[in-house]
Amino acid sequence: MTRRRFSAFLLFTPVAAIAAEGRSTISGRLQASNGGPVLLKTEDGKLITLEGDVSTKAVLRDARVIREQFEAVGEWKSPDRFLIDPIHKKALFIRRGGELLVITYWCEICAIRTYAPGRCQCCQDETALDPRDPKLENTAP
Ligand SMILES: [Zn+2]
Repeated sequence: MTRRRFSAFLLFTPVAAIAAEGRSTISGRLQASNGGPVLLKTEDGKLITLEGDVSTKAVLRDARVIREQFEAVGEWKSPDRFLIDPIHKKALFIRRGGELLVITYWCEICAIRTYAPGRCQCCQDETALDPRDPKLENTAP
């Protein structure tokens, strides 16, 4: 009984609880950008321009991420412009079946984790999208 209540609590942890104090969150569906500005369609149908650093933008353009329900932490610059926190803040999430997962990339051969898509810095193989429980970020590499 206690166990069930505990997992229900985890399941509905809002991204705001993970974000540092004073940060805003945004959620919705990323739109394929074709090189233009990256847009996010919110649940109420608004199109928001997303901004961020180079690595963050690489994640926003990742076709594997575009398929998912997306959430991010950052701040509103205007009613239709949202600046995502720098990549080292780990501000990019997807939601699967109600569960919030931080976006990471993983090279299985070298056991190297990164936060932007691309080739492994070690073996040069393409890294795999590996969204995972944000709590793991404080322990395992
Ligand atoms: Zn590698």
